[in-house]
Order: sequence, then C-alpha cells, then structure tokens
Amino acid sequence: HKVTLLAGGVGGAKMAEGLAALPDVELSVIGNVADDDEFHGLWVSPDIDTLTYSLADVIDRNQGWGVADESHRALDTLTKLGAGTWMSLGDRDFGLHIHRTMRRLKGERPSVIARDVARAFGVTAEILLPTDDRVQTRVRTDAGWLSFQEYFVRERCAPDVRELAFDGIEQARPTPEALAAIAGADLIVIAPSNPLVSIAPLLEIPGIKAALRASSAFKVAVSPFIAGKVVKGPADRMMAALGLRADAAGVAERYAGIAQTLVIDHQDEGLGDDIRAFGMTPICAHILMRDKADKARLAREVVELGLAPT
Ligand code: GDP
Ligand code: CA
Repeated sequence: HKVTLLAGGVGGAKMAEGLAALPDVELSVIGNVADDDEFHGLWVSPDIDTLTYSLADVIDRNQGWGVADESHRALDTLTKLGAGTWMSLGDRDFGLHIHRTMRRLKGERPSVIARDVARAFGVTAEILLPTDDRVQTRVRTDAGWLSFQEYFVRERCAPDVRELAFDGIEQARPTPEALAAIAGADLIVIAPSNPLVSIAPLLEIPGIKAALRASSAFKVAVSPFIAGKVVKGPADRMMAALGLRADAAGVAERYAGIAQTLVIDHQDEGLGDDIRAFGMTPICAHILMRDKADKARLAREVVELGLAPT
C-alpha cells in the first residue's frame, strides 16, 4: 500500500516510524519546513532532520530530537568566539547543516538535498518537502513578532501566542514530488503533529489542499491530544490562546473537509458527538506511542482503517 504521511517533528516522526515498520507499506513522508532557520550561517531544518534521524534510528530518544551520542564542541568554540546562541546544535548535527547549506548555496533544490540525506542515513521511506521555497512561521506574542525558533527554543513557548503567520507561503509552490505522493497514495495520514505550526504551514501551501481534495485516497488524521492534553509541546496552549478548542474535537474542526476520519484516544470517546458535528468520523484507539510496539500497532490500525473504511 502506498501511504503518504503529512508530518511535523516529534509526533510526526513517531507515526512515520510506525508506518515504516509495516512490511506491506511503501511510505512517503511530507515534512514541515516552516520551522527552518539560519544559525551561524547554516540552514537548519529541525522537523525534516527529526524525521531523518528518527527513521534512521540515530535520534536522541530522550530528547526526541538531535542525534544520540552527541557532543557540543563546535558550539563551545562558537561561544568562546562570542557567537554562541540559545539554539543547541550538536557536533554530529552540525555536519548535516554544513552539507545542506553548501548544497543550497550551489543552487540545488532543498527537496533533492533532503532526499539524498535520508538515503545516506539509510532511510528507506521517502522524505519529501512540501515546497522548495522559503516558508517560515512567525509568532506574534505580547513582546512582538518572533521567529518560530525564538518562540519555541529561546522563549520555551512561554509567551501567549496572539497570531501566527507563515512568511512566504502565498508565493510558495508545491514540489512535484509532494503532489505526486498525494495523487498516487492509497492512504493519506495526517500525523499527530501540532495542527497550527506543523500541519497548517504544509496544508496552506498553494496547491496542497487542492491535491488532497482531488485524491481519492482514504484520508485519516491522528489526534495529538489525549484527554484534553498534548503529549508534548505547546499545541494545547497555542490553540486555547487563539480561541480554538484545545482538544481532539478542536483537531476535528481543523481537519474537517481534509480527512474523513479522526483517530482519537479511548479516553476521548466522550468527544465523539462533537467530532461528528464537525463532519469527521471518530475512531478510538490507544494513540500514545511510547515504544516501537505502540508505534507499529497504531500504524497497523490506521492502515487497516484505510483498507476497510467504515
Ligand atoms: P514538533 O515539530 O517536534 O513539535 O512535533 P510535531 O508537531 O510533529 O508533534 C507535536 C505533537 O505530537 C504534540 O502536540 C504532541 O501531543 C504529539 N505527540 C507526541 N507524542 C505523541 C504520541 O505518542 N501520541 C500522540 N497521539 N501524539 C503525540
Ligand atoms: Ca516542529
């Protein structure tokens, strides 16, 4: 089965790992580039790298991002030179950022670079970029506009979010590879990623929603909320601050018209009617992915939903 996953970072990578573990699944992952930013002259692509490192099984499992067995000597040197930043980048990680930046400066397509990097890391799933153009999330807080990494890493998501903007998105063009992965999929899955800053900047690239609508594939989303809370990250506080429902029904409201079915946790069974009212079909499962077995089991259930739509 050809499965195409729309994914952010950590939540997206967990779903990707589960799907990649299924022998009968040919997986393409369309990742998020709107968290990308430049540090020390290098182009850093946190969500794409989380996908690559997770699928290559070199991810730091405690953090959920970055490479395992990492050191920070390059950052020490930068700090000594007065060029340190709040963005923690490890030595192994720096190697990838140097390589990516060098190839971008030569004018290579970012999506070709991402594909080659994934292959070099031994990843068999296709990692695709939704666009080769620059799209960057900006966050308006009471302290003004911040870049996404300033909000997420430097400010640790503490300020309330007043507004989100995706710089460059109106002019961005989707990659032919992403469009082909959507058109050719038997099943399209929206990962349990942050709906506002991981999935929205992907869906809102001109052409992506139309491609999803045109595709006859079964489309299913997995909720990042369990019992009204997120497993990790700021999605709940962000949604509440923007006046949206911060629970699985709020996720259904966002994805109605894009996916038919929302996989929610057993603990959220009571939200079923609210989810149906937004036009989505709720399906209960154990959606917390603690280990490999959890990931593969949830992925199997999601794929089976696509094969036998209820
Ligand atoms: P980021 O880019 O690293 O912030 O990651 P994503 O946007 O891909 O994912 C963040 C979301 O993943 C959060 O809202 C979490 O609630 C969700 N998440 C993390 N682990 C799990 C899990 O095991 N199960 C589910 N259902 N959601 C998860
Ligand atoms: Ca992210």
